[in-house]
Amino acid sequence: MISCKEATRLASIQLERKLSLWERIEFRVHLAFCTGCRRAEKQFLFMRQAMGAWMSRHD
Ligand SMILES: [Zn+2]
Repeated sequence: MISCKEATRLASIQLERKLSLWERIEFRVHLAFCTGCRRAEKQFLFMRQAMGAWMSRHD
């Protein structure tokens, strides 16, 4: 299984590009077992949404 460090890296990559199928599987499997990374991913997604909302108000 991938490490938390690797999972965090994939979480940030997925904000910039689509993950490959294998990356997605590794990431999902890690999240299924790791509460810490699940929580971190939620924050990532929330930050991206917040950022998106901010950007759309400011361009
Ligand atoms: Zn983890």
